[in-house]
Amino acid sequence: MSGKDGRQARELARIWPVAWVGFADHEPAVTGHPYTDDDHVDPAWKPQDLADIVKYLRQAPALVGQTRPEPCRLCGEMLASATFHFDGEWLWPDSLPHLVERHDFVLPDRLVARIRAHAYRPPITTFGPEAKLPWPARC
Ligand SMILES: [Zn+2]
Repeated sequence: MSGKDGRQARELARIWPVAWVGFADHEPAVTGHPYTDDDHVDPAWKPQDLADIVKYLRQAPALVGQTRPEPCRLCGEMLASATFHFDGEWLWPDSLPHLVERHDFVLPDRLVARIRAHAYRPPITTFGPEAKLPWPARC
C-alpha cells in the first residue's frame, strides 16, 4: 500500500498540532497538502503496547451520529460512520483504531503519550456541548 519509508508519517506524528486525528477530509488545513493515505502510514511503527493503545481508542466514550456503516478507504471493510470517540481532550472517528491496527497508521506522539499516561484506560469524561469538542474546522 505504501511505497514510502514512513518518515513523513513519523514527522507528522511528531508535529501534529491539533487534538483530532483521522479526519482525512480536514487534513489539508493542517498539513498544507492534499491528503494521501501514505501521510500516516509507517509499517515499521509497531509499539510494544499497540494492542493496549488500540483498545483505548475503542473504549473511549463514543458519540454515535449514525449507524449505517461505510467501507474503509483502504480495504473495504465496513466500519461505523459518523461515530466518534472523545477522551476529554482528543477526538477521533471510530475508524481510527481499524486504521492503526490494520493499516500501520501512526498516531500523533502527544496522543500516544496521553494514552500511556492514563495507563490505557480512557478517562471518564462527558461530551458536553457538541460545539466545545475539538472538531476539525468546518469547511
Ligand atoms: Zn481497512
